[in-house]
Amino acid sequence: MAQRILFLAHVDESGRSLPKAAYEVLGAVIEIAAQNGGDFTIGLIGENVQDAANTVAAPGARILGACGPDFAHPRYSSDAAAVEAICRSAAADVVIAPATSRLLRVMPGVSHRLNGQVDTHITAIEINDGIVSAKRWFYRQRLEAMIQRDARPWFLVMDSGCHAAWTDAPAAANVEILNVPLPAGARRTKFASIRLPNSDAQTIRPDAKLLFVAGAGWCKKQTDGKTHLPEAESTILEFLQESGASLGGSKSLVDQSGENQAVLGFMTHLNQVGQTGSTPRHPKGLSTCCHGEEPHVVGWRFINERRAINLDPNCGWARGKADVLYVADAFQVMTKLNILLSKK
Ligand SMILES: Cc1cc2nc3c(=O)[nH]c(=O)nc-3n(C[C@H](O)[C@H](O)[C@H](O)COP(=O)(O)OP(=O)(O)OC[C@H]3O[C@@H](n4cnc5c(N)ncnc54)[C@H](O)[C@@H]3O)c2cc1C
Repeated sequence: MAQRILFLAHVDESGRSLPKAAYEVLGAVIEIAAQNGGDFTIGLIGENVQDAANTVAAPGARILGACGPDFAHPRYSSDAAAVEAICRSAAADVVIAPATSRLLRVMPGVSHRLNGQVDTHITAIEINDGIVSAKRWFYRQRLEAMIQRDARPWFLVMDSGCHAAWTDAPAAANVEILNVPLPAGARRTKFASIRLPNSDAQTIRPDAKLLFVAGAGWCKKQTDGKTHLPEAESTILEFLQESGASLGGSKSLVDQSGENQAVLGFMTHLNQVGQTGSTPRHPKGLSTCCHGEEPHVVGWRFINERRAINLDPNCGWARGKADVLYVADAFQVMTKLNILLSKK
């Protein structure tokens, strides 16, 4: 039996388009819909969704909008009401949404309200003979599972970086604006302002082409018997600035700050990749001064091309975990690289 598919998204900060992750998930939804007769519905949330709707008009899907000042900013009560109204209007069996923080926050609650079920961290979805299957990883990305459920609506929140972003020329979209009833209590939380770290401190960049990972070696005594922390800091920061790479860290390195050891000032636990850290998705990765141990390397599960720089030819990266291992001094290599980048 054909499934009624709903693609759900919210406008981005510009108010004129969708977040990149939403266009990626839309690319997946168009393929999934094609396995299911081609039809699907798009649900959009935002103060004004017309411009964003125009960017997704080309596939010819029905477009529903939950709009107005109440939906300008993320807020559980109003976003949950908006998603609920869109799902009811679309009579959706399968609701597919990008894993933005705004949608992740409300999807489980709405799934409960509609007596549905929800799965997050989905990496792929397909429909065969009306049977929907979704994939996600477990045990720190070591096992891939295929999930099927009888429950409807089934909410599937898809991770970013799993599908190429869909794009086509904008067209005039016909948006059906929904009336979303909001009880007085839903407006109790007020948006005040967005506070961002200054751009230098913003080292985690999910959309970067390269993940640059620093390990504990940067803070260790070098051949002269001394540590070189200021040099390590400036070399890494310069590289991040010149290359636009995202910064990761090994557990050993990020733990040192908690143990009052001399550390890189800009490195926090949020940067940690690995079994007890994150598994970001980037086309390329460069590991510097870290050993390539298994709990660290599981954080590299979704990095397509892995390179490492280590002084030790027997380091863990050498055992088939990196595509290329440079047996070299990372201080020297990165300094040279920075010179080359600055000339570009
Ligand atoms: C349950 C569990 C969960 C864990 N989870 C994680 C996790 O999520 N993420 C994680 O990262 N780790 C994790 N670990 C720890 C992991 O096993 C390793 O201990 C850790 O990743 C090692 O960090 P490191 O390579 O930075 O440091 P080290 O092992 O100390 O290695 C430093 C490296 O730097 C090299 N080096 C030094 N100077 C230079 C130089 N000038 N140029 C080039 N190379 C140089 C040295 O040769 C050495 O190989 C976990 C461990 C356990 C038990």
